[in-house]
Amino acid sequence: MKLKIRTGFGYDVHQLQEGLDFWLGGIKIPHTHGALGHSDADVLVHVICDALLGAANMRDIGFHFSDKDPQYKGIDSKILLKEVIHLLALEGYEIGNIDSTICLQEPKVNPHIPAMKSCLAQVMGIPEQDISIKATTTEHLGFVGKKEGVAAFATVLIIKQ
Ligand SMILES: [Zn+2]
Repeated sequence: MKLKIRTGFGYDVHQLQEGLDFWLGGIKIPHTHGALGHSDADVLVHVICDALLGAANMRDIGFHFSDKDPQYKGIDSKILLKEVIHLLALEGYEIGNIDSTICLQEPKVNPHIPAMKSCLAQVMGIPEQDISIKATTTEHLGFVGKKEGVAAFATVLIIKQ
């Protein structure tokens, strides 16, 4: 059978609000503010889900896990990611690699990246070396720079043998 390789892309934004838990890359980041959302609002996990679903042409995270559905209220996004991996596996797809960027003015994300990689590798059942996480500020420009929100981007390759 022919080897099939497909690419996918994900983008997401969440508002930041004072006093909320800040879930990012599957772990809780110590900070005065956290991301607002129907789930735990983990923007990195959401873009990875969207990139994987996009690569398989299986719509997006909101299509599978509606933000109107009370069963997903406050849900750990890692549960959604596991379900996405399962949906792809049913179609015969495995993950090749993931590359991502988090856009956040503060706090510094870099010290947390090893813990995020380790957590997400475990959730997805893939080696850490197949997950790249990068972080950037936006030099105080725009909603990220003004600390009003957090954004993330991800690209993935998926493979069907
Ligand atoms: Zn989201």
